[in-house]
Amino acid sequence: MALGEKKLFITISAGGLALLAIFMTGAWYLIAPRLGEFHVDLPGAVGVAAGLAFFVVALGLGLVAVSAVTGQRVLFSQRITSTVVRILFPLVRLASAILGIDKDQVKRSFIEVNNALVAAGRDTLRPGTLLLLLPHCLQATTCPHKITGGLIENCHGCGNCVIESLLDVARRNGLPLTVATGGTLARRVIGEVDPAAIIAVACETDLTSGITDSYPLPVLGILNERPHGPCRDTTVDMGRVRDAIAFFAEALGWKPDEREQHPRSAGADAAGSNESEEKEKAWTRAR
Ligand code: SF4
Repeated sequence: MALGEKKLFITISAGGLALLAIFMTGAWYLIAPRLGEFHVDLPGAVGVAAGLAFFVVALGLGLVAVSAVTGQRVLFSQRITSTVVRILFPLVRLASAILGIDKDQVKRSFIEVNNALVAAGRDTLRPGTLLLLLPHCLQATTCPHKITGGLIENCHGCGNCVIESLLDVARRNGLPLTVATGGTLARRVIGEVDPAAIIAVACETDLTSGITDSYPLPVLGILNERPHGPCRDTTVDMGRVRDAIAFFAEALGWKPDEREQHPRSAGADAAGSNESEEKEKAWTRAR
């Protein structure tokens, strides 16, 4: 597995940890005399504890990097992997902001690392439902039908947007599918469906927050394509969606395209939360 786009996240993580080490050493140097006033051994004990915590995170980063690059799981559990990435992510955001690195580039790299870790943890997947979670911006802006929440059956399959193909692939694989207008609805649907794993399509920002919010649930993230600019008439590479389904099918022991059922929608119970969704959309637009 090539290092590719994953390199940025791993490199900034290492740089961020180096900065943290310098900061921690400086802070310890400044507060050590004060700590010594309480007890002669306190500066040493604090130094050892901080050094140990730092070593664990640095070791975690090393193992995450090995997993992401080799495609082999080297950490004991996905929960530990998730915890390490969760600690590293804010550090990476801070370091990249200081260094002036493009936020979307960092998020794309993070999504690649996450996907590689999900692939590496294929043997830890629990059997269960695979949820297809889509953003509302995939729907043609000219479409008069409401398909968000649990209303995907309202799609007439006219082919004016990629929803038709996604619905078809969901039907052939017996997967629940939901089109969410924001993170609040997406979280509610996840709570309702309780999936074993998720294939999520979204932009860099929504995928990143969706992946980190859902930890330790495995989420394979697929970036949408935005030929008309952000948030309107977007599309997705169906080849990538099929590859993601094939990955989970192989890991969970079923054959893709052989589980034909009626289209299953998810989120019907969550479809009525318009007030909070409107607030969330306003917040998203403001970002
Ligand atoms: S494929 Fe479905 S969602 Fe897309 S424009 Fe046609 S009816 Fe609307």
